[in-house]
Amino acid sequence: MNKFNLNSLIRENILNLVPYISARTEHQKEKKSIFLDANENSFGAPLSFLNSYNRYPDPLQKELKKKISDFKNVSPSQIFLGNGSDEIIDLVYRIFSRPEVDHVIIFPPTYGMYEVSGKIHGVDVIKIFLTKENYQLNLDKIEKFVNPNSKILFICSPNNPTGNDIKREDIENITKKFTGIVVLDEAYIDFSKQKSLSMEIEKFPNLIIIQTLSKSWGLAGLRIGIAIASEAIIQWMNKVKHPYNISMVSQKMAIKALENRDLFFFHLKNIILEREYLQKSLKKIPIIQKVYPSSANFLLAKINFSSKNLYQYLMKKKIVVRDRSKIILCDNCLRITVGTHEENEYLIDQIQKYSIQKIKM
Ligand SMILES: *Cc1c(COP(=O)(O)O)cnc(C)c1O
Repeated sequence: MNKFNLNSLIRENILNLVPYISARTEHQKEKKSIFLDANENSFGAPLSFLNSYNRYPDPLQKELKKKISDFKNVSPSQIFLGNGSDEIIDLVYRIFSRPEVDHVIIFPPTYGMYEVSGKIHGVDVIKIFLTKENYQLNLDKIEKFVNPNSKILFICSPNNPTGNDIKREDIENITKKFTGIVVLDEAYIDFSKQKSLSMEIEKFPNLIIIQTLSKSWGLAGLRIGIAIASEAIIQWMNKVKHPYNISMVSQKMAIKALENRDLFFFHLKNIILEREYLQKSLKKIPIIQKVYPSSANFLLAKINFSSKNLYQYLMKKKIVVRDRSKIILCDNCLRITVGTHEENEYLIDQIQKYSIQKIKM
């Protein structure tokens, strides 16, 4: 990757973009000033506890980035925050891929948003399936499909919905070889024994790592996605994003949460313990053909009979899991999120009951 030239990958309309400069970008520092620059309501909100919300939020989320930077040991200049990871996926498409001209490559079965976002942008999505045996990358096939219009390659590790880590060596080798942008989605990395590649960002100028506060941090409702990449890539993302993409409420709440590391680690440990418990218990149930190894906070389980029937049975028992049986290489598979101990026990109990019924039939 010696000849990597970021600007040559960026769409021309983006290269020539003069970004919108918000009032708050220019005059952030002087907190005591009288702010008459952004057409906000100086009288305040109609509820006194909402009064600080009469101002626009920090467009670059500096305080929150500092907290994330301390936790993850990456420089704030290498961090971008999106309104959920989905905003980050959308931005990567907007910056790098030309509709009707370029294509991206994905590795199904994987997270659905990569393809949906491609369709929204009018960019072709080439699918190279993971290997059937262990859901790993099919390296030989990738090379056959890559050409100069291959702009983005999406790898998800640990992968959703299969739960396994993609071999780190494969990710590194592909990233070195690929001449476009590699997006490595690490939404579930905190549940894995595998280390994040975020420490190696200096080695890979074409790598964008996606993480999120939605899973291990338990903050899905705040909508905070994290991108970690070279400062040059982050600057392009900042230019293209909507000026105030993360609300003030979300920024404030996330800062508070990040100050509470002890409980974060406690929950993380418990989720991993519960995952092992659920794995062991499910494997003992006769109608469960296979529970795949998981490095995430969910399990993929293959059912001997129709997974749809079990799905509907569980629905009636007020348990909602995800039927993934229509997805390639996941026939008769349910994806089950790890719950609390009580939730998991109830789930196991219900599946056992269903299993007994089925076997009698
Ligand atoms: C849940 C998930 C995300 C997180 O999405 P947010 O928009 O940040 O909530 C990202 N990638 C994958 C693969 C996921 O499963």
